[in-house]
Amino acid sequence: MTVETPFPIEFADRLKELPPYLFVEIDKAKRAAKAAGRNIIDLGIGDPDTPTLPHIVQALKQAVEDPANHRYAFDAGLPSLRVEIANWFKNRFNVALDPNTEIYPLVGSKEGLAHLPLGIINPKDKVLLTDPAYPAYRASLTFAGAKIVNVPLKESSGFLPDLKKVEQFKDIKAMYVNYPNNPTSATATKEFYQELVAIAKAKGIILISDMAYSEIYYDGQKPVSILEIDGAKDIAIEFHSFSKTYNMTGWRIGWACGNTKLIEALGKVKTNYDSGIFQAIQVAAITALKTKDEDLEILRNLYQERRDCFIMGLRSIGWKIPAPKAAFYVWGKIPKGFANSMETAKAFLEKADIVATPGVGFGEAGEGYIRMTLTITKDRLTEAVDRFKKIL
Ligand SMILES: *Cc1c(COP(=O)(O)O)cnc(C)c1O
Repeated sequence: MTVETPFPIEFADRLKELPPYLFVEIDKAKRAAKAAGRNIIDLGIGDPDTPTLPHIVQALKQAVEDPANHRYAFDAGLPSLRVEIANWFKNRFNVALDPNTEIYPLVGSKEGLAHLPLGIINPKDKVLLTDPAYPAYRASLTFAGAKIVNVPLKESSGFLPDLKKVEQFKDIKAMYVNYPNNPTSATATKEFYQELVAIAKAKGIILISDMAYSEIYYDGQKPVSILEIDGAKDIAIEFHSFSKTYNMTGWRIGWACGNTKLIEALGKVKTNYDSGIFQAIQVAAITALKTKDEDLEILRNLYQERRDCFIMGLRSIGWKIPAPKAAFYVWGKIPKGFANSMETAKAFLEKADIVATPGVGFGEAGEGYIRMTLTITKDRLTEAVDRFKKIL
C-alpha cells in the first residue's frame, strides 16, 4: 500500500548505497509456496532448530523473577559475566583476557560487528572484506562510508584469502576474517593466522575476526581463535556469540574481546545506541558458559550425523560436495545444467519445493555455489536428497 504524504519522504543516501537485497524474489516465492500449502523443505535458515539447553532456560526463569535484574543494565555488562567469559576463553583457547578492558558483552555479536565500523572507520578508509561474506559486514561498512575491497575466497585455497595478495594492497585500515566461515564452512589454521597477524602488524591493518561458530565443529577438530597468536591482541578484535553454541539465537547475547583500544571504540559507539543487555539474560549466559562439554558434544554429534547423511545422500545421486569441518552449512558448487546460483535456487523451489540460498547473495565470489543448512532433521534431509534425485 502506498500512503500519500504531504511532502516526499525519502530514504537517506546511505540506505540507497546498500547492496541490492538479492533474496527478494526467492523470499516472495517461498512465502507464496508456503501459503499455498506446499510441503517446503527449508535449507535456507541459519538458525538452530533444537531448543536452548534446558539448564539455561531454567537459569533465565529464576533471574527474571529477581527485580534487581529489571532495571537498565550496565553498558559494559555484569562484571561477573565478563569474568566468566574470561574463564571460558582461558579454558577453551588458553588465552588470558582482562575482564575489565578486553571483553565487552553485546546484544548479539551481529550488533557489535555492525557497530564497530562507526568507531574505527572514517569515510573512504579502505577495508578488506573476504568474499563471500556474512552480509552484515558489508552493510555496516557501507553505513560508515568505507571503501570496501573484496578479497575472493577460492575453493582451491580452502576458502582462505590469498595472503600474498593481501600483502600487496596499500593503505588498508582493517580486514575481516570469519572462521569457521559462513557461508563456506571453511576453517582456518594457526599457521594461517600467524602469517596474517604478521602481515597485519607490518602493514598497520586492524584485524576483525568473527568466531560465531567456534563450538560447532566436527571430528574433534577444534577451531582456533586469532587471539591464540602471540601479539594478536595488539591489533585484533574477535566476536563471539551464544547463538549457535547454545541454541540462543533469539536471546541476543554475544561478546567482543581483544585489543583494548578497539573494545573502547566499540563501547563508545554502543553507549550511544543501546543500554546494555537485559540483565536476566546476562545471568543466564553465565550459566550457559558453565555448560559441560558433553552437552555441547551432543549438539555437535547431531549436526555431524545430519552432515554425514546429507553429504553421502548427495554423493549417491552424483552431486559431490566436500563435507564441512565446522559450522552447519553445506556449500556446494551448483549442479551441472544450471546457469547460475539464482537460477538454481529458483529451480529447487519451483521443481522440488526446496529452499536453498544462492551463493551470489553473499558476494560476487559466491556465484556458482549454493548454501544449504543442517538445521533440519535427518528425515527431512533424506527427503531433500530424494527430491534432488528427481530433478538433477
Ligand atoms: C549467526 C552469525 C552471527 C550472528 O550471531 P548473533 O550473536 O546471533 O548476532 C555472526 N556472524 C556470523 C558469521 C553468523 O553466521
